[in-house]
Amino acid sequence: MTNKLDRDASIDLIRQRRPPWDLIVIGGGATGVSIALDAAKRGLDVVLLERFDFGSGTSSRSTKLVHGGVRYLKQGNVTLVRDALRERTLLKENAPHLVHDKAFLIPCDNLWQWFFYGVGLKVYDLLSTGNSFGRSHFISPRRAVELAPALRRDRLRGAVLYHDGQFDDARLLIDMAMTAADHGAVLANYMSVVQIVKDSTGTACGVVAVDSESEQRIEISAKSIVNAAGPFGDQVRQIDDPKCQPMIAASQGVHLVLPKQLYPGDTAMIVPQTSDGRVIFIVPWHDHAIVGTTDTAIPQAIPEPKPQSQEIQFLLETAAEYLTRRPTLDDVLSIFTGIRPLVKDDKSSRTASLSRDHVIRVASSKLITITGGKWTTVRKMAEDCVDRAIETASLSAQSCSTKTTKILDSQATGIKQLEIDSPQLAQPVHHSLPIKRSHVVWAVRYEMARTVEDVLARRTRMLFLQARASLEAAPLVAQIMSQELGTDQAWCDAQIKAFHEIAQNYLPG
Ligand code: FAD
Repeated sequence: MTNKLDRDASIDLIRQRRPPWDLIVIGGGATGVSIALDAAKRGLDVVLLERFDFGSGTSSRSTKLVHGGVRYLKQGNVTLVRDALRERTLLKENAPHLVHDKAFLIPCDNLWQWFFYGVGLKVYDLLSTGNSFGRSHFISPRRAVELAPALRRDRLRGAVLYHDGQFDDARLLIDMAMTAADHGAVLANYMSVVQIVKDSTGTACGVVAVDSESEQRIEISAKSIVNAAGPFGDQVRQIDDPKCQPMIAASQGVHLVLPKQLYPGDTAMIVPQTSDGRVIFIVPWHDHAIVGTTDTAIPQAIPEPKPQSQEIQFLLETAAEYLTRRPTLDDVLSIFTGIRPLVKDDKSSRTASLSRDHVIRVASSKLITITGGKWTTVRKMAEDCVDRAIETASLSAQSCSTKTTKILDSQATGIKQLEIDSPQLAQPVHHSLPIKRSHVVWAVRYEMARTVEDVLARRTRMLFLQARASLEAAPLVAQIMSQELGTDQAWCDAQIKAFHEIAQNYLPG
């Protein structure tokens, strides 16, 4: 068993390989990593190239829900909901260390709402037959306040309680990458695909990627190429065919992270109809509360999206309508923003109404693009995509087996062992962050963390919980990483500076 993501070993394998790979996957988000895992399990030779870090795009910036999507019921998309509910069960069975049941309540202002949402959730119960995380219930205002003590009682006429799933997106992604590597996939971060290579018939037969650490270009050939670049999918399609029409409508979603005291208890809350017709969640997560999200159309995807001040204001004001204590900007510990790769619909200008279903398109060069969908359904997305790659490139492969593929818990015993071997690694990196030096060492040695941001944002989620404390921890994290990587003080200084710039997007005000 590999149980290690090792960048140097991956780059060596990529460089040394002579016969074409069966499959190149462009993009190391949930979609790409899931495809790499599916393909490796079918016995295909697969390499995945990610231009920054695994999960640095949308896949670490979700609301952390594994859900059927109660709100899609309102859009009448029963198939989407039922498929997602089935996938929700599979994900919980395959990654029980990171996916768990969460109770949600919908506060209702009047009896009509109580009836409407109560009946809607009975339909959700019905659709989840065989995949249920727990039945829905009508509950009294008193019970609602017992479950969510910060909920304002004055306008509450009743509530509905239902169940969905919650997970840890960035951690799941790393564990999926580890599992894919364990089944033979080769994965490398900081490898940007800059060119699609074509043969004499115009068929895509490889890529040119730039290793951003060594700045070297590497040509890699393959029988099939999948573009899983999420919100950047059109940019990759345009490398293949500069004349292609965009298929992705980018929409950004902002989340605020608040201290637990503002929303104590374990029960999450959903506001199903905000003043402008959206849905927002208030969800307990790692001893904090996440409030999100917005849905703001943006002209095009950028790697580090920034929250707009009106989005922050909207979330604070909507939360204030329901909470006993009005949250202010001073309460906000971190802000994170993700971009939805929604599939364009020329008839609708509102991104909130665009389908969350996934779409697979094959270009005339046979480059396969997959986009849309959601974290909850990535296993199924990968299955459909690898089926299409097998068909398009006539690959010989086994059938999909990921329904029962267990996702490794990469940190389970390893971190403890590190601390037994070197007790000084059990010291914390910062007085208000729940991580120790061992987490940093582990992330570098076994999880391909290359930058301070990789460690603080995605291997440990600290930047997402406490942006200011993470900034303060950055110099020590850089020192520990530098010892592991064998780099010098100039590297540390550059890392601290880069992290400082990134963290500005997560800091309130
Ligand atoms: P990404 O994660 O963006 O990955 C694409 C990757 O491709 C990036 O890492 C990028 O760096 C890389 N890339 C781009 N260009 C290149 C190149 N040239 N070479 C190499 N690599 C490249 N879903 C749920 O199920 N539950 C939720 O609670 C939920 N909440 C959400 C909340 C928000 C605000 C948003 C925006 C989405 C949410 N989703 C949720 C949806 C889910 O997060 C996304 O569908 C999913 O993360 C998309 O993954 P992806 O791999 O397609 O894209």
